[in-house]
Amino acid sequence: SLPLSELDPDVATAVDAELHRQQSTLEMIASENFAPAAVMEAQGSVLTNKYAEGYPGRRYYGGCEHVDVIEQLAIARVKELFGAEAANVQPHSGAQANAAAMFALLKPGDTILGLDLAHGGHLTHGMRINYSGKLYNVVPYHVRESDMRIDMDEVEQLALAHRPKMIVAGWSAYPRQLDFAAFRRIADAVGAYLMVDMAHFAGLVAAGLHPSPVPYADVVTTTTHKTLGGPRGGVILSRADLAKKINSAVFPGQQGGPLEHVIAAKAVAFKVAAGEEFKERQQRTLDGARTLAGRLLADDVAEAGITVLTGGTEVHLVLVDLRNSALDGQQAEDRLHHIGITVNRNAVPFDPRPPMVSSGLRIGTPALATRGFGEAEFREVADIIAEALKGERPDGELRDRVEKLASAFPLYPHLPRLPHVNGG
Ligand code: PLP
Repeated sequence: SLPLSELDPDVATAVDAELHRQQSTLEMIASENFAPAAVMEAQGSVLTNKYAEGYPGRRYYGGCEHVDVIEQLAIARVKELFGAEAANVQPHSGAQANAAAMFALLKPGDTILGLDLAHGGHLTHGMRINYSGKLYNVVPYHVRESDMRIDMDEVEQLALAHRPKMIVAGWSAYPRQLDFAAFRRIADAVGAYLMVDMAHFAGLVAAGLHPSPVPYADVVTTTTHKTLGGPRGGVILSRADLAKKINSAVFPGQQGGPLEHVIAAKAVAFKVAAGEEFKERQQRTLDGARTLAGRLLADDVAEAGITVLTGGTEVHLVLVDLRNSALDGQQAEDRLHHIGITVNRNAVPFDPRPPMVSSGLRIGTPALATRGFGEAEFREVADIIAEALKGERPDGELRDRVEKLASAFPLYPHLPRLPHVNGG
């Protein structure tokens, strides 16, 4: 019963340093967020001790009466939140959710269409050395070079030529909404399943600020920790008639015991996501991304050869295009890191630089919106980023402006910092 700081000062010190990092810098990685304290409380609970293979009411272990209540709550809430007929809340992550959904509906060697990783797709949508690329015959589709938007004509041509068993729609780095109706029409034309991976934009969908894929797709997968703002994890939503196949693909197909502590935290996050405050936060997320795009499209930034892919955004992130800039993605990421803003470099489509360096930055607003940022703060942070990328202002001044913003919006103020760690 020793506290972490006494039992394991090495781990405690690193956790404490991470808390300080999150509190004192500006988190703008588009796939990250800050889970509410109640979500972390559920995730850190005694549920971590429980085995519960199976599903509520049909478990392979005794003593599941309380975790059954929790898992049923999570299922009911997420179905209600997205208007889905069926839900599986057990996938340990987004990648696991995708693996299970594909495992349920495909056989090894089947053909799938997915957005090319280099054009904004995810690893699990068919990357060569991912399970998806190894198990299935992957035909990638792309964005058009002229406007950097997904080329639905190409999707249609590829579908007609290759007759895929599944079309995957969804992205990790794309600043626009997808045309779910068009994907559905193409899938129907060739008898393919339509799977939408809404991991990035699920929070926007929950808030009613982004079209929902649920009415169009056979199966919708998501993570719970990005815009949705919950614990790290995955969910699969589906039509009722596919539920049995999907459940058996998750367990015993892909996983053993579910993480009931994480499922409890998901249930809490779904409750939060159904509220008015969550909707208002998602609106600030979207407004902040638009403000950032607007600032990075201004003349003074354009003069440095920097612009924004697709000329703006309709979601929670902006993709900065550095192909015509002397600054590469690595240098830009480092420069922002140096002043206390965390982002990730990202290859842009048709990137002339190698992937480890790249010519893009992906910058997202969900975490700062959760922290409380509104229009004025997003305007300030957009200006700081613009100045940092132009590289004409001293770092010290920009760092001071970042610190001022961070300290005006305290993060997890109730969490104690370590006063002293033995041996730390
Ligand atoms: N799907 C999409 C679209 C993603 O962007 C991600 C994560 O980046 C995943 C799935 C995988 O989620 P996880 O990291 O939880 O496996």
